[in-house]
Amino acid sequence: MPVQGSLLRHEPGGATRLAAVIGSPVRHSLSPAMHNAAFDELELDWVYVALEVAPSEVAAAIAGMRAFGFGGLSVTIPHKAAVLGEVDETSEASAAVGAVNTVVPLGDGRLRGENTDVGGFLASLSDEGFDPAGRPCLVVGAGGAARAVVHALAGAGAADVVVLNRSPRRAEEAAALAGPRGRVGVPADVAKVDLVVNATPLGLAGAGGDAGALPLDPAALRPGQLVVDLVPNPAVTPLLRAAGASGARVAGGLGMLVHQGALAFELWTGRSAPLAVMRRAALHALGA
Ligand code: NDP
Repeated sequence: MPVQGSLLRHEPGGATRLAAVIGSPVRHSLSPAMHNAAFDELELDWVYVALEVAPSEVAAAIAGMRAFGFGGLSVTIPHKAAVLGEVDETSEASAAVGAVNTVVPLGDGRLRGENTDVGGFLASLSDEGFDPAGRPCLVVGAGGAARAVVHALAGAGAADVVVLNRSPRRAEEAAALAGPRGRVGVPADVAKVDLVVNATPLGLAGAGGDAGALPLDPAALRPGQLVVDLVPNPAVTPLLRAAGASGARVAGGLGMLVHQGALAFELWTGRSAPLAVMRRAALHALGA
């Protein structure tokens, strides 16, 4: 689907603060639309842009953030792990997950690495009325997003956190983040859990994704389950379509995307994020 621009009232000037997302590829990012709409709504003199940064340039990009005095930085694929080693301090969540998705300047020249994917995922579950406490949950994938979800579910008291992943070693590492309640599963586990989360790019439109693919056999899905696909684009993925047909409840990746962005916005600006405005801007940028 096309990523569309938006019309903002704000005109940058000499005192404008800069924020950005670094990644590769990053041109498809919905974050500029979301954050610029939020700055506009609160009449903050900030501008947020997307910066394509090669893996070999991550350290230089963080040094640049310091040199230019950026007000905030988002980090996306594939730089979340690398940025962990470039900041001066890390939050408990980013250290546990091994990934930074948000960099916050502390005002004294130091930078703090945060992981708002963790809180953003939990907030999106709360929007769906799903409390993981005491519930069996399953995550497909073992990359940065999956690790954030496993950590979040364990922290929220899930009874079991089962991980399915193509590479078994990475599955074990991700499951270990949930301590004794984490384990590597088998496909038959999908039918036994209350929450299923796709944290692979299967179903993602555009570069790096496989738009037609399913991360699991939807025949195992059933009514009573919540199926969350972290893939934000398209809004309705092949997994969500199949899960809906199986009678499961479904939620897309936009909820987590908006909440992780809102948490970052609050860390940078100290202001309450205008969630509805950010969601509308992300949907508009998606062309949805
Ligand atoms: P990573 O590259 O870190 O991890 C990708 C995971 O998917 C790995 O476990 C990988 O398996 C698995 N995978 C990749 N391709 C295939 C395939 N063809 N078949 C089976 N498994 C596959 O990516 P992220 O964790 O950062 O992102 C994953 C997804 O989550 C993306 O679609 C991203 O857009 C989405 N996301 C959404 C967010 C939101 O706010 N909604 C936030 C962050 C991410 P292996 O370990 O074997 O390589």
